[in-house]
Amino acid sequence: MDDPLAWLAETARDRRAAGLRRVLSPRDVVEPLVDLASNDYLGLARDPRVVEGAVAAARTWGAGSTGSRLVTGSTRLHAELEADLADFVGAPDALVFSSGYTANLGAVTALSGRGAVVVSDVAAHASLVDAARLSRARVVVGRCAVPSEVDAVLADAPETRRLVVTDGVDSVDGGLAPLVELHAVCRARGALLLVDDAHGLGVRGPAGAGLVAEAGLAAEPDVVTTATLSKSLGSQGGVVLGSDAVIAHLVDAARAFIFDTGLAPTSVGAALAALGVLRAEPDRVTALHHAAATVAASARSAAPTLGVAEPTAAMVPVVLGEPDLAVAARDACADAGLRAGCFRPPSVPEGTSRLRLTARADLSADDLALVDRVLHEVLGPIVGGSPARSARPG
Ligand code: PMP
Repeated sequence: MDDPLAWLAETARDRRAAGLRRVLSPRDVVEPLVDLASNDYLGLARDPRVVEGAVAAARTWGAGSTGSRLVTGSTRLHAELEADLADFVGAPDALVFSSGYTANLGAVTALSGRGAVVVSDVAAHASLVDAARLSRARVVVGRCAVPSEVDAVLADAPETRRLVVTDGVDSVDGGLAPLVELHAVCRARGALLLVDDAHGLGVRGPAGAGLVAEAGLAAEPDVVTTATLSKSLGSQGGVVLGSDAVIAHLVDAARAFIFDTGLAPTSVGAALAALGVLRAEPDRVTALHHAAATVAASARSAAPTLGVAEPTAAMVPVVLGEPDLAVAARDACADAGLRAGCFRPPSVPEGTSRLRLTARADLSADDLALVDRVLHEVLGPIVGGSPARSARPG
């Protein structure tokens, strides 16, 4: 009898040979590392007010939501969060999911389906890709960065139900989708536009209202915004924002909403508290952008040939090439006190393995000085020659 798991060892060997094995390394509560790998962009995950929001919600509502949102899993706190998120982003209505992943699964499948066409951006997040596949719609992969390309696809599409899906802020390199132009194309061609604003909420737009709000599109009836509560809001969960008709439809038809246990009250309470902090302290958004620009300046000075761009959001990509090089750079950073994100295929195209440094609003001047020193120590030798001179004092 053949071993039914033999192929696992084989694929593991292949991934090891290609430098693509992944390991889980649990964090400690107190770490000696300066963290440039998390998505806690505004430094809210451990803010005492946000933590207290989770604790108070657990005391009142319990640790779990106890059921589907349609049965026992909706508390008054869920309704409060949905109203607050809609108000913050400027959308008519909102529906909270258990994650950003399930929010995308639910929204894309319920808004397309058999007989529809989904135009999916070539760099769309995996959750949008999976959602499009699951939808049973015809899926066309195109470049939303080039709206005329989307226009050409829609012009030729025989389907009348049409959905265009894209990330607002690219999760890997921070590139911004041309939402105003894309929306004009969608409107002219009778398509809904769904924008995943996971990396734009709390980062772009007025007081962090997101990239869709920045483009003035959050209240448009033919625009649907999705987001996660797990990045700038420091909690867990996901949300879909859109017209009353869209949200009512999702409650009836989104399987990832109906058949999933509702978001835990702790996460709801934390997200509500985080929104409160963000409203009271909009300077956090400015601090994040300042930190991102400073990190990028350090990387540029340490490795001028790598072409590190001016950041548009929280992430600063440092493209190194082969996976082994990116892993070695990540490990060298960790040894020197800096936790850096490392992206390899399939998260990024072959030959573009990289460090992804994500800035946070709460990085101190000392943290940024350490980042500068470590990037010079690590990147200098990689790009050749001796370590470059530091761009910053200390
Ligand atoms: N969309 C994008 C663009 C993301 O980066 C992520 C998280 N990596 C998600 C969706 C999924 O969100 P969550 O982690 O809340 O499931």
